[in-house]
Amino acid sequence: MKKLIVITGASSGFGKELAYLFSNAGHPLLLIGRRKELMYSYGLPYTLIKKVDVTDYSAFELAVKEAEIKFGPVDLLINNAGVMHLGNVANQNPLEWKNMLDTNVIGVLNGTKIVLESMIERKTGTIINVSSISGKKTFANHAAYSASKYGVHALTETIREEVSDKNIRLLLVAPGASETELLEHTTSSELKENYREWKKTMGGLSLDPKYVASSINFMYDLPQEVAIRELTIAATKQNA
Ligand code: NDP
Repeated sequence: MKKLIVITGASSGFGKELAYLFSNAGHPLLLIGRRKELMYSYGLPYTLIKKVDVTDYSAFELAVKEAEIKFGPVDLLINNAGVMHLGNVANQNPLEWKNMLDTNVIGVLNGTKIVLESMIERKTGTIINVSSISGKKTFANHAAYSASKYGVHALTETIREEVSDKNIRLLLVAPGASETELLEHTTSSELKENYREWKKTMGGLSLDPKYVASSINFMYDLPQEVAIRELTIAATKQNA
């Protein structure tokens, strides 16, 4: 059997595409998210499904340990779970900032710490963090989201520097706007509408998530000695 892959945020969007892709390639999987029934509906073989909030370190760690007992050590962790609440800081609910920073930054740190020690011992392993173009440039109404994704860029590069000599790959994908459920987390209907208007400049449809999944697959499938440190991918017609 191939090596174990852990995917967070596997109940929709990129995570769902990744689950199908890596399962079809013969990998056993640990799928993490809160909407367990959606992940069960995929019917994937050799797959452990756990209802875990990535901000809950103990529950996350327990799920990884259980998967490792079943399928062996984690070879790839994809820190994909994330939320985006668009909003203007002047009137946004601070709880939305906290949810984004907790999920998008602490969730990634949690996953990384949980798998890193064993990867260091084994002198192999790959962690791929899903950031965003919002982690490279700013957009109005994205202040806290952008702060979280700049954080993902910073922590990925820092940890890469810390473990590169242990033969561990820390890789990052920065997608542009894509056709997932992400926009639905935003509570302001006006901002959602603005976003949809902006998407019209791309012909109404943004990036298909399957290309984000296949890019991640490409990065992972390269030999362990090769690290695509960062990959930015967006619809050709995305102008920002
Ligand atoms: P979706 O909303 O479709 O997926 C987000 C996933 O994250 C869901 O499976 C959700 O599962 C999970 N999730 C959210 N919070 C938690 C949590 N606390 N614990 C566990 N799982 C959680 O959006 P995407 O697929 O687009 O998002 C995936 C990643 O891609 C995110 O990090 C996002 O920031 C990033 N991204 C997305 C872009 C886009 O335009 N779509 C562009 C750039 C980056 P559940 O609700 O079941 O817990």
